[in-house]
Amino acid sequence: MRASKLFVQTLREFPNDAEAMSHKLLVRAGYMKKLANGIYTYMPLMQRVLTKISKILREELNAAGAQELSMPFVQPAELWEKSGRWQVYGKELLRMKDRHDNEMCLGPTHEEVITSVVDGVFGSYKQLPVNLYQIQLKFRDEIRPRFGLLRGREFIMKDGYSFHTSQESLDEEYQNMADAYTRIFKRCGLETKMVQSDSGAIGGSVSHEFMVLVDTSVGENDVFYCEKCGYSANSNHAVSKLTDETTDGGFDKLEIVDTPGVTSIEDLAKFFNINKNCILKAVLYAAVYADEKDKDKTVEKLALVMIRGDKEVEETKLLNALGALEIRIATDDEAIEKLGTERGFISFKGLGDKDLRVLFDNSAKGMKNFVIGANQADKHIVGYNFSDITEDDIKGGVKFYDISVVKPGEACVDCGEALKVTRGIEVGNIFQLGTKYSKPMNALYTDENGKTHPYIMGCYGIGVTRTAAAAVERYHDDFGIIWPLEIAPYHAVVVPVNTNDEEQVCLAEEIYKKLLDAGVEVVLDDRNDRAGVKFKDADLIGYPFRITVGKTISEGLVEFKQRKEPEAVKMSPDEAVKCIIDRVNAL
Ligand code: ATP
Ligand code: MG
Repeated sequence: MRASKLFVQTLREFPNDAEAMSHKLLVRAGYMKKLANGIYTYMPLMQRVLTKISKILREELNAAGAQELSMPFVQPAELWEKSGRWQVYGKELLRMKDRHDNEMCLGPTHEEVITSVVDGVFGSYKQLPVNLYQIQLKFRDEIRPRFGLLRGREFIMKDGYSFHTSQESLDEEYQNMADAYTRIFKRCGLETKMVQSDSGAIGGSVSHEFMVLVDTSVGENDVFYCEKCGYSANSNHAVSKLTDETTDGGFDKLEIVDTPGVTSIEDLAKFFNINKNCILKAVLYAAVYADEKDKDKTVEKLALVMIRGDKEVEETKLLNALGALEIRIATDDEAIEKLGTERGFISFKGLGDKDLRVLFDNSAKGMKNFVIGANQADKHIVGYNFSDITEDDIKGGVKFYDISVVKPGEACVDCGEALKVTRGIEVGNIFQLGTKYSKPMNALYTDENGKTHPYIMGCYGIGVTRTAAAAVERYHDDFGIIWPLEIAPYHAVVVPVNTNDEEQVCLAEEIYKKLLDAGVEVVLDDRNDRAGVKFKDADLIGYPFRITVGKTISEGLVEFKQRKEPEAVKMSPDEAVKCIIDRVNAL
């Protein structure tokens, strides 16, 4: 490819609507162009990157026994009603009506479609298991599309689904896919960590995410990990060994104390001169559920979380514990209206007759003689113990859940070592779905005795566009992108310094041809621009190798530069060509 013909425009400045480095760089280097919020055109350079990632995906998935198909992007509501997700999926699902007034949606994922596809095609146990995947556009009307391709509204995903007759068979395929994913990301030049995760709206029980670890907030996930035993989990799933810890407030008698205006945990700890972990904090939530009587409507219920004062609520865990569609922190007005006290003084005290779910976090288990709100303005109770709770307070007794965020330094559940935390970008995930879709959708296979059962399913996703962006996030410097050779749009660029110098131009053309003939994907920067401009563009675009043909050809030398190395090396043209060919052949 000649740079003079390449359909790309690099920009002098970063776009001003971008926060993430990958977003800034991919726009500035001409890889993508915004059409609307969270919707981008993938320009030719980007398309090459995405094609390479897809090629690696196809090779590895096919080798692992999966088969590619392609399902419709526009989906009828009917299928989603069958699975029960039409009501629960929320606003990420872009819904519309066709001209006949049929409800439709743009596919955010394809569990429903694939289940309907397999049903009736593969009905016999003899034909199972089967693993089917596609690489396709998805649309999710994300509440906060941001960070460019990391969280777009329209994006490309590889989604795969497997169908089984037993849990053992699913376990085997799950491991097969985990191994394939590890190979895929490695071949993309990306190091990933496989971590335990929450299964969320998609359902099922066992799931793992593949994270690219980064140290900035564009990694939207906190990953807790143990250096000793290898335990690692997304913060929405991570647990620590907390339950055997005892904290004693030291109060020797139960009494109500005036605490005027003291509402925060910090202030209470100071007020009583105790540690925060001796206060049982109450956090009031409003939870949204589908209305059982009218499925197009939702209802809100309050839920009170009791958690040790030094801990925070993990809202994904809470959402799961409540089985709600959505949750939000309740307002002061709601607290006053429903519980009679403003939030700073609430607790479960005397609320046994209210329609209120009370959930205790496991962190509270070891608390003694602690402080709680008195459910009266400007008052707290001190010296409280679990044995003081009666049916007047909580109907049916205390129930504990894991609904708190792990903190760095807490002990690993598996080995007790202090947990560490880092940020991660989720590039892929694998789920064991079980019969979550096949059961409600009545998708059945027949066993050897002629009996029917719902398929046991797994599903496996990889964000193709997100993987490209994650690579940029992970590999860049002040000058631009540093693509891993495996997924770079081109392997190399050849730059004649002076395009008016015939000798330089001839040698550059010769090198270009040799590289092309050897199968190297190479750009010849034949533009009549200053060398400085070409170098800047080469660094910004991020070609892994550059050969510069300049004045040194009088000594029989060119400059060979690897994008990831600071310095260029002088060598003969043939040597430089060989360096590149060898590296490309080793891919
Ligand atoms: P997230 O938690 O980041 O929203 P998810 O759990 O919704 O991801 P899945 O529905 O399982 O993700 O989708 C599979 C893969 O698709 C994800 O691992 C991610 O790489 C990618 N992906 C999901 N949402 C987006 C998005 N809005 N933009 C780009 N890629 C995405
Ligand atoms: Mg999502």
